[in-house]
Amino acid sequence: MAKPVQDAWDGVYRRVDVHVHSRPFAGVQYRGSASAYVRKVRAAGIDAVVLLAPGEACDKAVRRFGGDFVIPVPMYYLREMPGRDIRGDMERWLDRGARGIKFIAPLHKYSDERYWPLYQLVLDRKAVAVFHTGYLAARSQPEIPPVEMDDMRAAHVDAVARRFPDLKILMAHFSNPWWEEAWKVCWSKPNVYADLSGATALHRSMSMWGEMFAPDGHLLRDSLAKICFASDVCYLHNGPHEFAPYVEFYQRLLDRVNAPQSLRHRVWAGNAIRLFGLKSAR
Ligand SMILES: [Zn+2]
Repeated sequence: MAKPVQDAWDGVYRRVDVHVHSRPFAGVQYRGSASAYVRKVRAAGIDAVVLLAPGEACDKAVRRFGGDFVIPVPMYYLREMPGRDIRGDMERWLDRGARGIKFIAPLHKYSDERYWPLYQLVLDRKAVAVFHTGYLAARSQPEIPPVEMDDMRAAHVDAVARRFPDLKILMAHFSNPWWEEAWKVCWSKPNVYADLSGATALHRSMSMWGEMFAPDGHLLRDSLAKICFASDVCYLHNGPHEFAPYVEFYQRLLDRVNAPQSLRHRVWAGNAIRLFGLKSAR
């Protein structure tokens, strides 16, 4: 891994965005000084990002921006499995320092036994299995057969967690729109965490989210304690920061349920630190 970028950052992770992409998706085209970019993003409140991208793009981003800023998580379209040695490829990136593997667009439900060897590998390497859950935006070319969002719902992640109780699992997008299902699964399964990233959750009312984590105003600490901050926007490009509305959304939620400081820290960074094994620089 590359040497960390040196800057004014004091070395303690205060906020980690656990779901980000690069633009273009399969590469990093940022023009300018990588250390200046990292300083700018940290000054705007994000100390590190979990990059979900093809393995090559993750590797390139770590070399350019530093392994204390970019946490690499190679991403796999499970429907490509029949023609590709996905397990061998995963092994290669895990050998090179990947902290997790992201799974998306399966041909079968996530709990299908054909995928178990992949999950076993992630478990053996003590990495994190990141699952896209719920709705998936269509790609420009139609997939054949079409992606079934039903195959990616939290119920199937629950079955994976039953079979692999020690596998660290992060459910992206809170199984949109099966919110209740995601809430139950991550609240009940010690090894399952979740995020509220994506362009849908922040458009639902704060009364709905308040009820989710503090029914009738009573905070369910161990439920909120399983949530990680995440945006699902692109970093590592020259455009404006796109994560601001997500920081604001999480802030409103934490305020709404009157979350104590310790829980706020878990959501902003603590869970990410534990899941991905991040080490503070001081
Ligand atoms: Zn995403």
